[in-house]
Amino acid sequence: MAIMKCPQCGKSISDKQQVCPHCELDMTNLTEEKIHSLSKIKSLKYNQSLQTHQFIATLLFLAGCFSYYNIEDKASPQFVAAQASILVGFIWYVVNRFRIIWAKRSLKK
Ligand SMILES: [Zn+2]
Repeated sequence: MAIMKCPQCGKSISDKQQVCPHCELDMTNLTEEKIHSLSKIKSLKYNQSLQTHQFIATLLFLAGCFSYYNIEDKASPQFVAAQASILVGFIWYVVNRFRIIWAKRSLKK
């Protein structure tokens, strides 16, 4: 018995299993082509979620910047929150940028 990865959900399963216990993919009639298209779909979905992350990070960053310049009282908790969201948004964006580059690299293989 060997452990392999399900081509649809990517979770570890036994190669003796007929149906994936995680996503219920039928393993009995998988062709090379089907496995390939499933992994394509999976990386597309992953890319889509990265794009969503990127969008939220940008929004957080911009909202932080907007608040930063519009809050008069620099000692208020709102001002601290604005700084925090700039920082978090920026770090999130940069980290996500690397994840996108990484995902594109592994897609080309
Ligand atoms: Zn699965």
